[in-house]
Amino acid sequence: MNSEPRVTVWNEYRHEQSHPAVAAVYPQGIHAAIAEGLRRNGLTHVRTATLDEPEQGLSAAVLAETDVLTWWGHMAHGDVTDATVQRVRERVWDGMGLIVLHSGHYSKIFKALMGTPCELYWREADDHERIWVVDPGHPIAAGLPNHIEVGPEEMYGEHFDVPAPDHLVFISWFSGGEVFRSGCCYTRGSGKIFYFRPGHETYPTYFHADVRRVIANAARWAAPAGGPPPTPRPSDRPVPPLEPMSGY
Ligand code: ZN
Repeated sequence: MNSEPRVTVWNEYRHEQSHPAVAAVYPQGIHAAIAEGLRRNGLTHVRTATLDEPEQGLSAAVLAETDVLTWWGHMAHGDVTDATVQRVRERVWDGMGLIVLHSGHYSKIFKALMGTPCELYWREADDHERIWVVDPGHPIAAGLPNHIEVGPEEMYGEHFDVPAPDHLVFISWFSGGEVFRSGCCYTRGSGKIFYFRPGHETYPTYFHADVRRVIANAARWAAPAGGPPPTPRPSDRPVPPLEPMSGY
């Protein structure tokens, strides 16, 4: 495969069109800010897609050309159809990377892939968020300082009801006192998944240089590794032996 992953930045794109306070922060939409951050970090194959486009922006053709999908959703989780969820889930199983951002923790696709409630505690009170790197050798931490001062953000607190991550890269601290596992890596099928916490819609978090670096690092990490073609999946069917068999 091409060494530069093809990234599709998906956003439900509803808050920006219905809440002036959000539009003031993200006049071109959250997806545009995320895409700009990826491009500034050297990713050259970046496109955006939104919920109100045909097939919810995620047709089979779009997904087939996507190595890594980033997902931002909040107020319209319920509008994402089961058919869309199934298309995305199948692509993850077949090797597409998925980066789930902030309130995407409660999206249908993340819950479907995790198999747990994915619930958490939250507070909108301008807590200060500081993200600590707890796995400095992980590729997603490349080039970062040992902590990121995000600034004012929504608080997410434990317990975060997800499976224990395969790798935990970040822990957030909030000035109200809570901590949160804010950078969680998983594998489902052949696909890599990264959950990254910050990015409430009323804060300019996706313009933060280190937050942008994390998402770009995650896109490179989550891209398919170029191993044997994962399709067709085994599909639970019998296969002939590779070696001649006799004597049984
Ligand atoms: Zn939020």
